[in-house]
Amino acid sequence: MMNENNSKDKILIPQLAPCGIYCGACPSFGKTCYGCSSEENQKRTSKWSCKLRHCCYSEKKISYCFECDEFPCQKYKKKLIKSNPLNPKYNYRHELIENSKMFFNLGLEEYLLYQDKKWRCKSCNKRVYWYEYKCSSCGASYEDKS
Ligand code: SF4
Ligand code: SF4
Ligand SMILES: [Zn+2]
Repeated sequence: MMNENNSKDKILIPQLAPCGIYCGACPSFGKTCYGCSSEENQKRTSKWSCKLRHCCYSEKKISYCFECDEFPCQKYKKKLIKSNPLNPKYNYRHELIENSKMFFNLGLEEYLLYQDKKWRCKSCNKRVYWYEYKCSSCGASYEDKS
């Protein structure tokens, strides 16, 4: 999906935030938020003030921080990689550098498929949300992160 608000040819996917976080596994996705890449008005407002989003889209004019020469820059590390280092609920942030390698190895399409599968319950195939790390439907705990 192209975003006409941005000048360069960008490939923006609702499920994938500019910082590389998989919005598809956010509890707010499709409810109060259309994904961090969307420019549509929505109930949840936090993304509009996100410095990473602003830098990626408006300053660097790229689709994903993964594509940036400075990745991972200091502000990226501060907000995502070093945040809550001992709290496993934030592992989805801590693994972003690893994810960036996968993004380049697999390509965007395969990477999205990988993320979609990764954040699904191994028992019932329903969505597993980050923070919670358990199935939103059957409640099974989320152990297999591959
Ligand atoms: S850091 Fe910014 S772009 Fe990334 S998920 Fe959070 S609000 Fe969205
Ligand atoms: S400078 Fe940092 S926040 Fe900005 S696009 Fe590059 S990695 Fe993302
Ligand atoms: Zn389940």
